[in-house]
Amino acid sequence: MTWLAPGELRPHEPMSRHVSWRAGGPAARCYVPKDRDDLVAFVRSRPAGERLHVVGLGSNLLVRDGGLDATVVLTHGALRGSAVADAEARRTVLEVEAGVPAPKVARMAARMGLAGAEFLAGIPGTVGGALAMNAGCYGSETWDFVVSVTTLDRSGRIRVRVPDEYEISYRHVALRRPEDGEGQGSAGTLPLEPEGEWFLSARLSFPQGSAAAALQRIRELLARRVASQPLGQPNAGSVFRNPAGDHAARLIEACGLKGEREGGAEVSRKHANFIVNLGGATARDIETLIRKIQARVLHDCGVTLATEVRIVGTTA
Ligand SMILES: Cc1cc2nc3c(=O)[nH]c(=O)nc-3n(C[C@H](O)[C@H](O)[C@H](O)COP(=O)(O)OP(=O)(O)OC[C@H]3O[C@@H](n4cnc5c(N)ncnc54)[C@H](O)[C@@H]3O)c2cc1C
Repeated sequence: MTWLAPGELRPHEPMSRHVSWRAGGPAARCYVPKDRDDLVAFVRSRPAGERLHVVGLGSNLLVRDGGLDATVVLTHGALRGSAVADAEARRTVLEVEAGVPAPKVARMAARMGLAGAEFLAGIPGTVGGALAMNAGCYGSETWDFVVSVTTLDRSGRIRVRVPDEYEISYRHVALRRPEDGEGQGSAGTLPLEPEGEWFLSARLSFPQGSAAAALQRIRELLARRVASQPLGQPNAGSVFRNPAGDHAARLIEACGLKGEREGGAEVSRKHANFIVNLGGATARDIETLIRKIQARVLHDCGVTLATEVRIVGTTA
């Protein structure tokens, strides 16, 4: 990743530098806060009509080639604090800021002898992205462990919220209801609207386990990923959500789409639910391939595949 200096507001920043697909258009403006207080002050200082878009490690994001008419705020490297918030004999609550990489939480928890965070080791995003996506794998999801979150809204208001205030399901998190007419409706996903609310930090509770067992499980889960995912090529993880009772990868493979290409984008030969950038792929190449896959799977299998990756911005 190419970093901006903390506190620098850079115009016309290529988002290909900040997303794992290494493709896509620019953000109108890009900002890396110095820390949480600086982020809050920055959000309060921006003109009311300006759209803000919070991005973590960009591992689930496609920005169309025409770019994003918004100020992108990058949390990675900025909101990076972590601490023990509460410790009892049987469980420990960690307070982790939104810009902390998920794998770091997995390792930290494991070294402390806590159980349950191992699944985060292979998710190459931030805690904020994991909260927004309810990221998960191997039978665990991020919100299984959330005690509370601290959020910031577009007006600069900070709140502490509990899981009951959210609608949480497979790769889906949304506030249950608008609060006094502000905020967004139940259909609104939190981060994408100017009126949205962003995660500053989370309190995550893990039961006591064994450090050796957790570190061993991390090694096993990472080995499974190396064996099954095209980690050497730029990608954004699973492109499509798994439909109920089935796997998107199975359907895509059954349609003979492994290796299908569009410009510099290819349906991975290693994992059919991944699209890799072979070098020089545009966001248009990737999105065209996504639409092609959806059309073929609908035609051949009668299943509508919904994207898991978030697609934002305008076409060139
Ligand atoms: C190789 C690979 C493997 C992957 N494996 C998995 C997996 O096993 N399971 C899984 O669930 N995902 C997986 N992913 C997808 C991705 O890593 C996760 O969705 C991750 O949680 C995204 O985090 P991020 O910081 O990169 O988010 P980004 O891509 O930066 O953002 C994703 C969305 O979250 C929003 N967002 C980011 N930060 C915040 C915040 N602080 N507050 C509010 N909204 C925010 C953004 O606006 C955007 O809409 C994988 C990706 C790759 C590349």
